[in-house]
Amino acid sequence: MFEKVLIANRGEIALRIMRACKEMGIKTVAVYSQADRDLKHVRLADESVCIGPNASAQSYLNIPRIISAMEITDSVAVHPGYGFLAENADFAEQIQKSGFTFIGPDPDVIRLMGDKVSAIRAMKAAGVPTVPGSGGALPNDRDVCLKIAQEIGFPVIIKAAAGGGGRGMRVVHTESALMNSIQLTKSEAKAAFGDDTVYMEKFLQNPRHVEVQVLSDGQGNAVHLFDRDCSLQRRHQKVLEEAPAPHIDPKAREEVFKSCVKACVDINYRGAGTFEFLYEDGRFYFIEMNTRIQVEHPVTEMITGVDLIKEQIRVCAGEKLRLKQSDLKVTGHAFECRINAEDPKTFMPCPGKVTNFHVPGGLGVRVDSHLYEGYSVPPYYDSMIAKVIAHAEDRETALARMRVALDELVVGGIKTNIPMQQDLVRDAAFAKGGVNIHYLEKKLNL
Ligand code: ADP
Repeated sequence: MFEKVLIANRGEIALRIMRACKEMGIKTVAVYSQADRDLKHVRLADESVCIGPNASAQSYLNIPRIISAMEITDSVAVHPGYGFLAENADFAEQIQKSGFTFIGPDPDVIRLMGDKVSAIRAMKAAGVPTVPGSGGALPNDRDVCLKIAQEIGFPVIIKAAAGGGGRGMRVVHTESALMNSIQLTKSEAKAAFGDDTVYMEKFLQNPRHVEVQVLSDGQGNAVHLFDRDCSLQRRHQKVLEEAPAPHIDPKAREEVFKSCVKACVDINYRGAGTFEFLYEDGRFYFIEMNTRIQVEHPVTEMITGVDLIKEQIRVCAGEKLRLKQSDLKVTGHAFECRINAEDPKTFMPCPGKVTNFHVPGGLGVRVDSHLYEGYSVPPYYDSMIAKVIAHAEDRETALARMRVALDELVVGGIKTNIPMQQDLVRDAAFAKGGVNIHYLEKKLNL
């Protein structure tokens, strides 16, 4: 096992990774920007290194500084968390070239899945269900594009192969708008991602977002850890997640689970990963794979009892996957509410000093947060400050437990989205389960 791991992240996930390392007897190194010297995990880590000024570009995204921090602390591996450099293949490659271990898949696998055209091709080959589409880059030929669109059927969506974060996509409803939309998406993709490759897919009108968690050792062993529903989103940002996904066709689900496991083995995947799907009318359609741990991983941990970060670290240290599919089963249901430092009505970020912080508790309640009384939320990074997770024997009880937990939670001194979450967990349609990805924005009148 690794002797010392550097955590190349901040906030709740850095603390979460540090806890896993400590339980495993691994020494930890925290890196932080000048704005982040008071982060909870920085104080608790065995060692800490300031890697630069407030701007992420000069600190959390600064590869040479992170590698220097590894060298001076004798770290042997780096955990990237989520966001920042977690899906940056060049970072993973430089880590390897410097003689360290990147806790994640190989750089080529990150690259393969980071390009959506190559990812879809690899998934199709493994038998993962994909969205009907061009299956590859669109040529600069009007007739060919039109023919592809007619075969798929309007509406279609034009997407940048290098796109991410909900950017580089355009829906097209008519033949007359097609070529213009392709050109626009291409030039936007070139400007934003430096790559103008675009492809075409059927635009699904009312899908849900359902994703499958996997663990794989890159030695031919892989398991799935069931699914999560993350349909409640605002501007492509997930707001509230649950596991397992409610009201899913059992046969389609079993098939998709099997195909994800096969895909992991086929691409030699190592680590924790997530296959993201749109789900509509009883069918799954692959959209992308996240080659890292995700924000919403705790709901899966609650229903399976598996510590995903510890297993991720184990397989990335070269151990064989300890879990067998037959060891895994779903126990109950879990929800996660993301708590952000933002105005609950305008969604404007609201950094500042936390004057008091009261965390809910009790059976089945978990709070992953780096906050403490007196901590100042800096304005430079993501506004998420806590995740409240509630687990119980069934969905209804877990939701009731979440209502109680949110009512107990107090974050004083700054505005948060707690009122919005309190409202959401009392929403009748959400309580029934299975709302689609447009539901939240419609409810918020956006
Ligand atoms: P990104 O990497 O930017 O997150 P995704 O491919 O995951 O891009 O798509 C982001 C979101 O865009 C999806 O969650 C969904 O809301 C919407 N979307 C993507 N592809 C389609 C599609 N074929 N039909 C309908 N909506 C889509």
